Amino acid sequence: MTQPQDILQFCPKCGSANFVFDGSKSFKCASCHFHFFINSACAVAAVIVNNRGEILLTRRAFEPEKGKLDLPGGFVDPMERAEESVIREIKEELNLDVVSLEYIASFPNEYIFSGFSVYTTDLGFLCQVKSFDNMHAKDDISGFEFIALDKIDYSEISSDSIRNIIMAYEKLI
Ligand SMILES: [Zn+2]
Repeated sequence: MTQPQDILQFCPKCGSANFVFDGSKSFKCASCHFHFFINSACAVAAVIVNNRGEILLTRRAFEPEKGKLDLPGGFVDPMERAEESVIREIKEELNLDVVSLEYIASFPNEYIFSGFSVYTTDLGFLCQVKSFDNMHAKDDISGFEFIALDKIDYSEISSDSIRNIIMAYEKLI
């Protein structure tokens, strides 16, 4: 019961309760004719590998999926490029400087936040960083670890989209 049609009851423009879900991805207000679409939000996830080929996984500090393993990343801000977003998020979460990045693949996700389903398109990027010298966990992660690909416990990963991005990276190498 977290999907938009379960939660949204009133037109966000005029406040009318005559706000009708079309059965797929939009609502129409019968009072003011406002047409509101449920679009996918863009998010980014970084695959960062050390010189032993181990992948950098973070621990989520907050719900949803608090304590689970994740790739570093986050939501793309309005009017931000995805490439800028991944550089910003890696700096914010880990204090790492991305020097180059390469697109891997994207996968959809349903991210439940504040009891509300946010549909996302998670873009995976393979990122090189300047160095790991001044790395530390901050922002919305509680820690990090480097894990060999064959040692990753996929049941500990926070979402299918992140599992899929890691597996898409494995196919590249
Ligand atoms: Zn309205």
